Amino acid sequence: MPGTGTSPDLVRVPLFDLRLADEDVEAVAAVLRSGRLAAGERVEAFEAAFAAQLGCRQAVAVSSCTAALHLAYVAAGVGPGDEVIVPSYTFAATAAAVLYCGATPVFADVIGVHDPSIDPAHVEALITPRTKAVAAVHFAGYAAPVDVLAALCDAHGLALIEDAAHAPSARLGGRKLGTWGLAGAFSFFSNKVLSVGEGGLLATDDDAVAARARALRTPGVHEGFPYAMDEPRGALLESRLGRLESDIDARREHTRAYRAALSGIEGIVVPYRDDQLPDSSCYILPVMVDPERRDALRIALRERHGIQTSLMYPSVHRFTAYRERFGELSLPRTEETSAREVTLPLYPHMAQSDRTRVVAALREELNG
Ligand SMILES: *Cc1c(COP(=O)(O)O)cnc(C)c1O
Repeated sequence: MPGTGTSPDLVRVPLFDLRLADEDVEAVAAVLRSGRLAAGERVEAFEAAFAAQLGCRQAVAVSSCTAALHLAYVAAGVGPGDEVIVPSYTFAATAAAVLYCGATPVFADVIGVHDPSIDPAHVEALITPRTKAVAAVHFAGYAAPVDVLAALCDAHGLALIEDAAHAPSARLGGRKLGTWGLAGAFSFFSNKVLSVGEGGLLATDDDAVAARARALRTPGVHEGFPYAMDEPRGALLESRLGRLESDIDARREHTRAYRAALSGIEGIVVPYRDDQLPDSSCYILPVMVDPERRDALRIALRERHGIQTSLMYPSVHRFTAYRERFGELSLPRTEETSAREVTLPLYPHMAQSDRTRVVAALREELNG
């Protein structure tokens, strides 16, 4: 089981599994044979294809989503002394990239366990004269309320940055996520929906933002960072992009079946609504359980059933590095969500029997 990092004897159902097609391997091999490895035609072709698929003017491929977030904040004018309002319920990079700018991340609470998206009402309450930008994360591939946040940011002269690491090709009201604000940041890390190992992309309709990101993605005389993407990755992404929609369709069908089966298990809350599935990239399958039973449940799933799970995410504001710098903070709904969440196995080519095994194991452990 490639990519799980766990002994195959123990893991019968991995959290995630990556399968490349022969054509993907061939696309990379062709680049390797060409000897042209640094950014060039393949990266440009991928950028054009991704922009067309997303429906944005500009796509700037970079080395990671963290790099894309950093460049997005820089392009938004974020610098020392500024504040950026971010969710705490996210992968640490959303906030860490604010620190790269010498600015302060200000953590907003989530809406709740049924919708762990950043809460626009709390965002509004946190705006100060130092606020420069607001970052929204489309957790698990489901839209954060970026329609409300875009209006709020417009009214206050703030930049909206979308961390769309989970959400390639997902939508809200017919419009793709990552196109609602000044810039959208995507991740192509190995366990994401569209993966390449390490990689990311900044999407924008603003030509000046794109030009700044392109200028900054390679080290220059005065500024710039080693954030470029290389040709093998560009070729792999271009090849895999052609199957993005069918991969998401497969994730969606697993998610639909999971939701139906899990609704009969007492003690499990599955966030979001069925009617959000058609617009979601269905990146992960998060469920909420009793926090008192969570750790024992995960151990039982692993040791008795060979099922790998994860926690996405611990609250960033509770990390020692952030507490030491920014003080103790209380975000009750974020903390509750972090304490209850368990991520279940999900990937496009997952066997139906493996999904059924996960559901049966949960039923046995929680209701048995
Ligand atoms: C994975 C992830 C990132 C960082 O992506 P990298 O490409 O690994 O830098 C940022 N935000 C979220 C929400 C993520 O899940």
